[in-house]
Amino acid sequence: MGRLVVAKFGGTSVGSLERIRNVAKRLAKMRDSGDKVVAVVSAMAGETDRLIELAHQVAKKPNERELDVLLTTGEQVSIALLSLCLNDMGYKAKSYTGFQVRILTDSVHGKAKILDIDKERILRDLEEGYIVVVAGFQGIDEHGNLTTLGRGGSDTTAVALAAALGADICEIYTDVPGVFTTDPNICPKARKIKKISYEEMLEMASLGAKVLHTRSVEFAMRYGVPLHVRSSFSDEEGTYVVSEEEIMEKPLVTGVTYDRNTARVSIAGVPDRPGVAAKLFGYLADENVVVDMIVQTVRTDDGLANISFTVPKSEVEKAKDVVEKFRWEVGGEKVDFDDKVAKVSIVGSGMRTHSGIAAKMFSALANEGINIIMISTSEIKISCIIEEKYTELAVRVLHDAFELEKEES
Ligand code: ASP
Ligand code: MG
Repeated sequence: MGRLVVAKFGGTSVGSLERIRNVAKRLAKMRDSGDKVVAVVSAMAGETDRLIELAHQVAKKPNERELDVLLTTGEQVSIALLSLCLNDMGYKAKSYTGFQVRILTDSVHGKAKILDIDKERILRDLEEGYIVVVAGFQGIDEHGNLTTLGRGGSDTTAVALAAALGADICEIYTDVPGVFTTDPNICPKARKIKKISYEEMLEMASLGAKVLHTRSVEFAMRYGVPLHVRSSFSDEEGTYVVSEEEIMEKPLVTGVTYDRNTARVSIAGVPDRPGVAAKLFGYLADENVVVDMIVQTVRTDDGLANISFTVPKSEVEKAKDVVEKFRWEVGGEKVDFDDKVAKVSIVGSGMRTHSGIAAKMFSALANEGINIIMISTSEIKISCIIEEKYTELAVRVLHDAFELEKEES
């Protein structure tokens, strides 16, 4: 019995006609082996950027609805070229835009969420032996407007389709061989992970590892879709993203991530009474400032509190305005902003059951003289804010400390 496979190919994988031919060959091989095949493709490499640039040349602040109309053309080119290529090779193939399938989304242009997928047409085509080629990154809202899912959103289209169709596996073909223990560009000892849990992958993706669109991992976890992240340029196995129960030997730490796009805001000496934090973070929310870490401590000597939090570097100016307003109304002795910081994190489900991991992380950093400015933890991750100039060093020493170069058993 053949499997039902959803295979997603990113922009680099369909970046030229030659590469599109390679993708077609790969799909043809799957079909030959008896699999039912749905392909999801991105726009050709650089195309989405080019379209955004065009929009900005004709409009200072492009209208979001119209921008989506423009951006969806990128993926439409890829699906047609891929289907043409498959037809030329003698395979039955049919392409669909997101609107034709009917990938129903909400109406938030530029970052729409998928609400529902009409799978009937695709299932019928698969039954008839077609390779079905679907445009990633796009959908339609209930009023018939075209929408897009946010940069990198084709991953999410693929996983959502795999969930809707009950696929056996969702393969994400990309330009790297899989998910690595950390960024190989800054740590030569980085190693490809064989298996990682959804939870760990989700943390890694939101902490800065860029292989998968975060929302796609949430979808996969919610619907239990097994993912296989692999290179479109080789036949080598990549990384399987699966539920935690399917991983026998759980390493304590699975990966190290970093994020330079972070800045620290601290307010010292604010009143310590109910409603103060609510007010500050309420104001930040009103201005759509995304806050990441939050640390508050009460000073025992004078009963005032210090509050520190982090925001993306691009939001610092907005945060400054909010903090000024807050101080004016509520009080606060001193404000301090620092955008020369970075966040390094370790992720691993083994943390749930083992102690001493935080201590090991902190001493690895201390041994290199790296000061920790802020700390935050969740069940399966520990993040530290450090001076930005130590980012690469910190990643390497943590990778060494937890012996991540060693193969998983
Ligand atoms: N083409 C879109 C982008 O460049 C979606 C994707 O590639 O996943 O962000
Ligand atoms: Mg992509």
